Amino acid sequence: PFEVLVVGGGPAGASAAIYAARKGLRTGIVADKFGGQVAETVGIENFISVKATQGPKLVANLEAHVHDYEVDIMDNQRALSLKSGKLFELKLESGAVIKSRTVLLATGARWREMKVPGEQEYRGKGVAYCPHCDGPLFKGKRVAVIGGGNSGIEAAIDLANIVEHVTVLEFDAILRADDVLQKKARSMGNIDIITQAMTTDVTGDGQRVNGLDYTDRATNETHHVALAGIFVQIGLVPNSEWLTGIVDVTPRGEIIVDGKGQTSIPGVFAAGDVTNSAYKQIIIAMGSGATASLGAFDHLIRSDVD
Ligand code: FAD
Repeated sequence: PFEVLVVGGGPAGASAAIYAARKGLRTGIVADKFGGQVAETVGIENFISVKATQGPKLVANLEAHVHDYEVDIMDNQRALSLKSGKLFELKLESGAVIKSRTVLLATGARWREMKVPGEQEYRGKGVAYCPHCDGPLFKGKRVAVIGGGNSGIEAAIDLANIVEHVTVLEFDAILRADDVLQKKARSMGNIDIITQAMTTDVTGDGQRVNGLDYTDRATNETHHVALAGIFVQIGLVPNSEWLTGIVDVTPRGEIIVDGKGQTSIPGVFAAGDVTNSAYKQIIIAMGSGATASLGAFDHLIRSDVD
């Protein structure tokens, strides 16, 4: 059996595996797709100490770094369920069962998409999901934020400091964001908020986004807004469905961890975007992967040896 079995091969999982291997622990990584969200990212400018890089390049570096250690990488393998016992048993889609003394969950998250025409085509070409990551790319331009919840209004306030103008489009008749955020957004001169707006299309010139169409649900009229960018802020969904009923999660499905990355089950740790960490970023995921791995080490040295 493994001593540390990491599920997920994004920045959190890679970092956790390296920390575990450096403690001399028998370490394995199971990943549906090594690299995680980073593999889908174009420019990365906030991975501190690396001024600018690209997703696939960072993934190649992550993989090379993990390969420097004795880590058993099981790529293209999806975990289906986790069973507790003297040893944890991770069942894979292939039917294989992997045993380990501790398990470290780092299965990440995915942005909820609008699922409208043009969204996929212009992803990374004006359609963005992360204001911390991509906001500066739209300096001096007009952008929209889709979604009037806390993350949407926070994004609008953040972006309004950088871009020329922000249009917030909310499907509902009211915004769900906290009052204090709404007040702040309304006090800024360059944010317009449109409610009852159903985005129907992302438009572009074949190369980049040039706007969007929406239907005013009150009047049924269609409108076009000219834009350089669209930030979709309608939710980040943790990849924790397969763990329902096994570890404690928040109402949003985020795995609850303590300061050492431990979940509600002793010996099961979690890190990165799948957890209830306040912010979701590469550098944060890597830090929490290291924390959870050291947590697992702490747990192992306090447990009976087989
Ligand atoms: P992920 O990167 O999501 O990795 C999850 C891993 O788990 C993957 O290997 C996946 O295949 C695997 N997995 C999932 N379910 C299973 C399962 N059941 N069985 C086995 N494996 C499974 N952050 C920044 O700091 N800077 C940026 O510029 C930036 N830009 C971004 C741009 C885009 C388009 C996106 C989508 C995100 C961006 N982020 C950026 C956010 C950053 O990518 C995430 O915070 C980070 O990748 C989270 O790391 P993670 O390891 O927790 O999860």
